[in-house]
Amino acid sequence: MAQAARILKTKVGIIGGGPAGLMLSHLLSKSGIENIVVEMRDHETISNTHRAGILESQAVSMLTDSGVEGRVLTHGDEHAGIDLRFNGESHPLDFRDLVDATVTLYAQNEVFVDLAAARARDNGDVRFNCEVTEILDMETSTPKFRFTDAEGVEFEVHADVIVGADGSRSFARRQMPDSVKQDFKVTYPFAWFGILTEAPKSSPELIYANSPHGFALISQRSETVQRMYFQCDPNENVDNWSEDRIWTELNKRVAGPDGFELKTGPIFDKTVLGFRSFVRQPLSHGRMFLIGDAGHTVPPTGAKGLNLAFADVKVLFEALDSFFSTGSDKLLGGYSDLALKRVWKAQNFSYWMTSMLHTPVDADPFMAQRALGELDTVTSSRYGMQYLAESYTGWPHS
Ligand SMILES: Cc1cc2nc3c(=O)[nH]c(=O)nc-3n(C[C@H](O)[C@H](O)[C@H](O)COP(=O)(O)OP(=O)(O)OC[C@H]3O[C@@H](n4cnc5c(N)ncnc54)[C@H](O)[C@@H]3O)c2cc1C
Repeated sequence: MAQAARILKTKVGIIGGGPAGLMLSHLLSKSGIENIVVEMRDHETISNTHRAGILESQAVSMLTDSGVEGRVLTHGDEHAGIDLRFNGESHPLDFRDLVDATVTLYAQNEVFVDLAAARARDNGDVRFNCEVTEILDMETSTPKFRFTDAEGVEFEVHADVIVGADGSRSFARRQMPDSVKQDFKVTYPFAWFGILTEAPKSSPELIYANSPHGFALISQRSETVQRMYFQCDPNENVDNWSEDRIWTELNKRVAGPDGFELKTGPIFDKTVLGFRSFVRQPLSHGRMFLIGDAGHTVPPTGAKGLNLAFADVKVLFEALDSFFSTGSDKLLGGYSDLALKRVWKAQNFSYWMTSMLHTPVDADPFMAQRALGELDTVTSSRYGMQYLAESYTGWPHS
């Protein structure tokens, strides 16, 4: 006879132990609100998944002010600008001068390692290798979810509130009834070919390049490891790309009369990243709330995904704190609308950066020239550069 699932009672049950789920869990625990995080992957896999790298200063403050005590201040690299490169020329944007703000380059996997260490230090209940496969009663005051651990033992989490922090392919999101949900999405006819290389920095700031051959982003990881991307077909096969071919392609996209060339080195990671714009409305149903990529995804061009996830966490944490301390669900009821205001601003910025910097393979020549006109408009106007700088470094949190 099958054994009954073991019951775990808590206040907040969190599905997904990425940056959004762990950050929320950390803040809740600091406020004395009991919670459980259930994560389907293991710690090592997540620690070795390379994704985001750019943190707004408010995201950095959420880590440092809440006592995560990670290495973001000692190992993160503060950046005060970017270089927009088009027609083969560099156009530096100085964020400090334009909007008195900076961003910090600190890899998402390091954010995860720091948050997971903080949860372990504070005896947080984070269960890796456990996939949530069922959500029950989300429309009642006692929502539940089920998962099976690595030993095959079945558990049922009984909570006051459930949070779907389970990323862009969210299982939680799919459990919302069709009658209440609306999805908005854009797919793009290109992807990013990403590499990690053991090479010195090619430039002090990140380079966002528009070229007739397509977009390239020259980003960084450390003094000795660099992250670079170039626009490619979504079906591109990384095995068709030798190191020589990759460097030739990247150099073509940043080439110009100034003779700029990338500093090269051995490539140890190659991957193709498809991307899209997506928003689920509303971000909640009954007692279930979506945060981070589970509720919305942005193309990485604006570096907004992880930052948006943290902004959701802040809004939801304050609503949950109020709910558990006063019994009022007023702020919880306003979570979706408040979080979505920032989500749509970030969607607009990410879409704008993507369309301005990329050239679809079959681009209408008019549209390609128009994008250059737009880049020229932005970089030749202080107001234009301030708009980009303000959006890139992040609007104030609600
Ligand atoms: C190449 C790339 C570059 C990027 N660059 C930037 C950048 O510079 N700046 C930025 O802000 N953002 C960037 N992003 C976006 C950023 O990585 C995401 O927005 C961020 O990971 C969102 O965090 P999250 O916690 O919501 O989701 P995730 O990090 O996806 O975490 C969700 C977790 O839920 C788990 N999970 C899923 N289903 C289940 C289940 N059924 N049961 C239990 N667990 C489950 C998953 O294993 C995962 O660990 C980039 C993304 C990519 C791909």
